[in-house]
Amino acid sequence: MKKIIAVAVPKGGVGKTTTAVNLAASLAVAEKKTLLIDFDPSGSCTVYMGFTPDKIKGDIFNVFSYTKSVAQVIHKTELPNLDFIPSNVDTNEAEERLERLTRNTYLFNNILSLEELSSYEYIIIDCPHYIKGLTTIALAAANSIVIPIKAGKFSLSALKRMINYINSMRNTVNARLKIEGILLTMYESNTKAQNMTNEELHKNFGEYIFKTVIPKNVAITESEFFGKPTILFSAKAKGSLAYLNLAQEIIEKSSRKGPVI
Ligand code: ADP
Ligand code: MG
Repeated sequence: MKKIIAVAVPKGGVGKTTTAVNLAASLAVAEKKTLLIDFDPSGSCTVYMGFTPDKIKGDIFNVFSYTKSVAQVIHKTELPNLDFIPSNVDTNEAEERLERLTRNTYLFNNILSLEELSSYEYIIIDCPHYIKGLTTIALAAANSIVIPIKAGKFSLSALKRMINYINSMRNTVNARLKIEGILLTMYESNTKAQNMTNEELHKNFGEYIFKTVIPKNVAITESEFFGKPTILFSAKAKGSLAYLNLAQEIIEKSSRKGPVI
C-alpha cells in the first residue's frame, strides 16, 4: 500500500531537503518504487536532484493550476525506482499566486490519490520551512511526517510547535496523520549542544525518535554541488549508510502490523 511521508518542521537549515532527497533515494535503492516531490517554491530539492530549468517539463504547481496533468510533470532520475516532481517557481509574484492556489486543503490529497500515482510504494514530500499554506496541505494529504532536528535550542522550539500543529491537524483535516519519527540530523556525538539537545528530546519525545541518527558528513554537503543524492556520489560515505539505515527502519515500521504512534 502507498505511504505518503511529509518531511517538515517550521525551521530552515535543519536538513529537511537533505533528508527528503536521501531518504527517497535510499528507499529506491531498497527496491521500493518511490516518488519524491519538491513542495518548496525555493526549489532546493530540485537543485539537489540536479534539475536545471531547461530539464524541467513542468512542476507540481502546474498540476494545482490545472495547466499540466500529474503524469506530465513526473521526471525520471538516475535511479530506476525513483521518480521526481520538481518545483520551478522563481518569482515572489508566482509564489503569492501559488499560496492562493493552494487554499484548497484537499486538492493535493486528491492529486496524490490519482490512478497515475497508484504504483508508488512511497511518496516523499519536501516541505518549506513554514507551517501555513504548503506544509498544511502536505500534512492534510500525508500518512505520516518525518521531523528532522539538528542540535540547538531553536530546533527544539520548532519541534514543539510542529507537534502541537500535528495535534490540531489530527483534530481537523487529517485524523490519520502519524508521526513517522523525529530524526537527529548533522549529529556530532561529542558536543555539549548535542548532548543537551538529546537530553531534552529523550525526556519529552523519546518514543518518537528514530534509532538511526544522521551524522554530520562532508559527502552529504558535497553531493549537493554535484546534483546527486549522496548514495550516487559516495556510496560508502557515513551519510549514505545512515540514510540507508533510516530507509530500512521506515520499511520495517511500514510492514509491522499493529498500532503506530
Ligand atoms: P532545510 O531543508 O531544512 O532548510 P537542508 O537540507 O537544505 O535544510 O540543509 C541545510 C544545510 O545543511 C545544507 O547546506 C546541507 O548541505 C547541510 N546538511 C544537511 N544535513 C547534513 C549532514 N548530515 N552533514 C553535513 N551537512 C548537512
Ligand atoms: Mg529545504
